[in-house]
Amino acid sequence: MLEKLVIANRGEIALRILRACKELDIPTVAVHSKVDADLMHVRLADEAVCIGPNPSSKSYLHIPAIIAAAEITDAAAIHPGYGFLAENADFAEQVERSGFVFVGPSADVIRMMGDKVSAIKSMQAAGVPTVPGSDGPITQDNDRTLRIANDIGYPVIIKAAAGGGGRGMRVVNEESELLNSIDLTRSEAMAAFGDATVYLEKFLQNPRHIEIQVLADGKGHAVHLGDRDCSLQRRHQKVLEEAPAPNIDQDARAEVAASCAQACLDIGYRGAGTFEFLYEDGRFYFIEMNTRVQVEHPVTEMVTGIDIVREQLSIAAGNSLSFTQDDVSITGHSIECRINAEDPETFMPSPGKVEQYHPPGGSGVRVDSHLYSGYSVPPYYDSLVAKVITTANTREAALKRMRNALEEMVVQGIRTNIPLQQMLVTDEGFLKGSVNIHYLEKKLGLS
Ligand code: ADP
Repeated sequence: MLEKLVIANRGEIALRILRACKELDIPTVAVHSKVDADLMHVRLADEAVCIGPNPSSKSYLHIPAIIAAAEITDAAAIHPGYGFLAENADFAEQVERSGFVFVGPSADVIRMMGDKVSAIKSMQAAGVPTVPGSDGPITQDNDRTLRIANDIGYPVIIKAAAGGGGRGMRVVNEESELLNSIDLTRSEAMAAFGDATVYLEKFLQNPRHIEIQVLADGKGHAVHLGDRDCSLQRRHQKVLEEAPAPNIDQDARAEVAASCAQACLDIGYRGAGTFEFLYEDGRFYFIEMNTRVQVEHPVTEMVTGIDIVREQLSIAAGNSLSFTQDDVSITGHSIECRINAEDPETFMPSPGKVEQYHPPGGSGVRVDSHLYSGYSVPPYYDSLVAKVITTANTREAALKRMRNALEEMVVQGIRTNIPLQQMLVTDEGFLKGSVNIHYLEKKLGLS
């Protein structure tokens, strides 16, 4: 196993990684910004290093500070968590060049998946279904571009190859708008990502967001751990997730999951990863791959009994996967509600001191959170403060547990979106179980 691990993240995921390390007897180093000295995982870690001031650009995104912390603590490996530097190929490269193990895939694979055009190409080669599109960058040949868009059929979506976080995309409804919109998206992409490359895709009108979790050891073994439905989103941010995705065509599901495991082998993938798809009319369309652990990984853990973070650490230590696809089975149903420090109606962040914190509990209830009574949520970072995960034999029973858990949960002193989650888990449309990615915003009157 790894000899000592730097947790290059904060909040709930840092605590999640620390807990996995404790189970595996891996000593831990917490690196944190000034204000984060009070974080739960910093208190529990074997060692802690302050790596800079509060803005993440000067701490959690500051590569030299993180590598220096690994050096002075004589660590063996660095886990990037999610967000921050988790999908930064240069970071992965510098970590490895400095002689540490990066808990994740190789820098080359991160780079390939970070460019959407090359990601789509490699997926097509591996037999993963993609969205009908331009199959490569749009060129200066306008006649060609117009022809491609016509072949795809309007509406189309223009996407920046280097885009991310829901930025660098534009929907075009008719031919007369196409070339102008491409120019606009190109200059926006250049300004935001330093890369003006754009491509076209068919714009799917009412898809669901379904994703497949994979694990691969980079030594010729890859498995999938089934799917998750993350269609409840606001501004491309997931709000509630569940596993398995309800009401999915069984043949399409089995086929796409197998293609994801195969793709891992084809691209030499190592670690945990997620293939994200849009799902419409019984068909899957690949949109991107996340080369890291995801916020919503617990719902998959709960229905498979596999500890994804533990597997990440084991793979990073050079071990082969200890199980095969035949050993993976999905049992029951699991739901995750993301609890954010924000106003439930305006969605404005609500940092501040948590006067009282009481997490829910009982059978089938898991809470991943760094909160404690007296902790102050700083204003500098993501507003996610807790994940409530309920699991039961059926979706209905998991939802019932979630309703009870949310009612039990107390977070006083700051505002949270618990009321929004309570509304969602009693919402008739959601209870039926096949809402699309626009459902939440429509319900909130935002679109
Ligand atoms: P990012 O890397 O910025 O998250 P994605 O490619 O994952 O970009 O797309 C983000 C979101 O944009 C998707 O979750 C979906 O809501 C929407 N989207 C992307 N591509 C399409 C498409 N072809 N049709 C419809 N919606 C799309």
